[in-house]
Amino acid sequence: MIFDGLKRLFGRGDEAAAQPDPCAGQPEMISCKEAVTRLQEFVDGELTGLTHEQVEAHFEVCTRCYPHLKMEQAFRQKVQTALSQPEVPGDLRDRVLQLLTHDVEGEG
Ligand SMILES: [Zn+2]
Repeated sequence: MIFDGLKRLFGRGDEAAAQPDPCAGQPEMISCKEAVTRLQEFVDGELTGLTHEQVEAHFEVCTRCYPHLKMEQAFRQKVQTALSQPEVPGDLRDRVLQLLTHDVEGEG
């Protein structure tokens, strides 16, 4: 029957459009958007308006946001490691600074 075909053509697949949010239906849970927005503050321990536990709870259950947290933590770890390296020897630093500030007026 042609009308059945037309109905199928024009029928919208509503069930496919609404992908469930993994965090939906948990009233205590902050949204994914909020979690990712507050990620920097969370890692810095400088959250305002939310508790550390609230944000942490989200990352613990949300497989979508968890990789963001892991990435941020790995990045911070690298920065920390780089910053904790022994200082560049003064002699070498002087030579680098000399090279950086070297001007070519002596050439003429
Ligand atoms: Zn999430």
